[in-house]
Amino acid sequence: METKDVILELRTQKGLSQEELAAKVFVTRQAVSRWETGETIPNIETLKLLSQLFDVSINTLLGSPSKLVCKCCGMSIEDCNMSREIDGKFNEEYCKWCYADGEYTLDFWKRYAEIGGTEKLEEFKKQLLFELNTLLDIEGLPKAENLNVLSGEFINLEYTLPNGEKVKYLSDNQTYLGSQLESELGGRCIGVAANMDFLLICSYEENGENPELLIYKKR
Ligand SMILES: [Zn+2]
Repeated sequence: METKDVILELRTQKGLSQEELAAKVFVTRQAVSRWETGETIPNIETLKLLSQLFDVSINTLLGSPSKLVCKCCGMSIEDCNMSREIDGKFNEEYCKWCYADGEYTLDFWKRYAEIGGTEKLEEFKKQLLFELNTLLDIEGLPKAENLNVLSGEFINLEYTLPNGEKVKYLSDNQTYLGSQLESELGGRCIGVAANMDFLLICSYEENGENPELLIYKKR
């Protein structure tokens, strides 16, 4: 969709006339009309106001010309998973799991960003990979090649202990570094997760079913 169609659609959805929209973003009715005929597009300040008014990102207003990717975890971002500042404005650089309310959500990411930014995070990932691969090696499992930032709500599997007790080791609200290993073990997937405090290795069937905890180790 082009900007002109996006604006027309959003204005209509909100039940605003061109005149009413113009008043809300401090332009003339003619300006709105020119946007909707495709003669002009709003300037950046007006785009910011429209973004707040319609609760869509500027990228969406512009007809999604860029494929947005989270600068922290690399996940592709759309309005539904985009981060926001404390005042509710979109931050188009990060996904909502990596950055929320004006702050990085990851303890380790925050700590590493403070002292050295992305470079330090890469170093930390390498360190975790080394530690995880040492454990995987002992178990005779394939190596982990990379780690991604993963939301706890997707990887917080419930394990059954030998005594039948069910346990979760992660928190739905936190974010972890982890990945699923390339190789499979007897039809089961192997997954790793870690943060500043622990290393976890588990196996599971497709979609995380019948998970089994292989290793949980404090760092
Ligand atoms: Zn992210």
